[in-house]
Amino acid sequence: MKLDNNAAKALKKDFPIFKNNPSLIYLDNAATSQRPETVIKSINDFYEKENANISRGLYTLAEKATKKYEDARKTVAEFINAEKNEVIFTKNTTESINLLSYTINSLVPKEKNEILLTEMEHHSNLVPWQQLAKRQGLQLKFVKIKPDFTLDMSDLKEKLSDKTAIVAVTYVSNVLGTINPIKEIVKLAKQKGAITIIDASQAIQSLPINVKEIECDFLAFSSHKMLGPMGIGVLYGRKKLLEKLSPFNFGGGMIKKVTLDDTEWADVPYRFEVGTQNIAGTIGLAEAVRYIQKIGIENIHDWEKELLKYALNKLKKVEGIEIYNPGVNSGVSIISFNIKNVHPHDVAELLNNEGIAIRAGHHCAMPLMKKLGISGTCRASFYIYNTFEDVDALVSALKKIGERFK
Ligand code: PMP
Repeated sequence: MKLDNNAAKALKKDFPIFKNNPSLIYLDNAATSQRPETVIKSINDFYEKENANISRGLYTLAEKATKKYEDARKTVAEFINAEKNEVIFTKNTTESINLLSYTINSLVPKEKNEILLTEMEHHSNLVPWQQLAKRQGLQLKFVKIKPDFTLDMSDLKEKLSDKTAIVAVTYVSNVLGTINPIKEIVKLAKQKGAITIIDASQAIQSLPINVKEIECDFLAFSSHKMLGPMGIGVLYGRKKLLEKLSPFNFGGGMIKKVTLDDTEWADVPYRFEVGTQNIAGTIGLAEAVRYIQKIGIENIHDWEKELLKYALNKLKKVEGIEIYNPGVNSGVSIISFNIKNVHPHDVAELLNNEGIAIRAGHHCAMPLMKKLGISGTCRASFYIYNTFEDVDALVSALKKIGERFK
């Protein structure tokens, strides 16, 4: 389904939040998307009609719940072209990356002692590696960004070496909207024998993702940014590598056999899913995947590009604006900016007075802010239900703010 302004307007009707907040102009999709009625209903239906714990029960309701949970895994796996048992359900991207940072030791040869990240990482793909580096005496390196807000690939090539153990990179920057050339990065990292980890939390909702084509070892994302519920996330890992990882959390559900002295782990992925899981969350996530598939991820990307082009053209004309975005050919529809003489928090508050929701601050990317020489930005981020009128409302409100603080 090709999206245009009318189609986007029509899509709004699928989202109860807009019915309940008719004047809301929601431009904070990079923080979390809204959820369509079908997703909310699928979660309600589970609790109202099918609620039972999975895997342990031998009665019909429990069998049904188990099937739904496993069907959700299959839906998610197919969405990223993974095998079903390569999908681990977690709480969110942050937990997926932490899981890796605590278990990855067994995959790292002794002679390798460097972790390569980029200057544009979200804290969730930085702090876990920083802490691993401290625990294990590893060295962190960071690929620079260029003045046009894209990644400096020649710096990446220079910093990759035979010592590089891990390359962990965001697919899309949550601040700049930059789409990184992930396939090329993975290829270069593999030539040096490094493990590759992709933070796809700003990509999964906007770009087609095929893990077999990307050839990454691991990939993480959150359901709540792709129309699904909060509290559920995914860690994809190549089966062969997952089998070499020790479990991170221990307890019920992740075992094959327990004696008083020892434990045999369950197969992958179950050894990483400990205790009662967010079953309703996985069902909601699968429903969100179906919603995205109904529209088509390529169509979503195209509409984001349209919105980005339209917004950048209009925003450029706002007096005193500075925009931190690589442009239509290199980004998704996330636009960071500042208005001269106005603190980003004040901009966000003034926009809120006009019913416009944006985010302001460091966006969990403090080192990137330091690199840009600022303390924070305003960030407007668009998704399928946003329209040209939403952009117009933002631009005219910003013009008013610009005038006021001139
Ligand atoms: N990485 C990136 C690029 C993000 O944008 C976010 C969410 N802002 C995260 C990681 C963390 O996601 P979550 O809070 O869902 O764990």
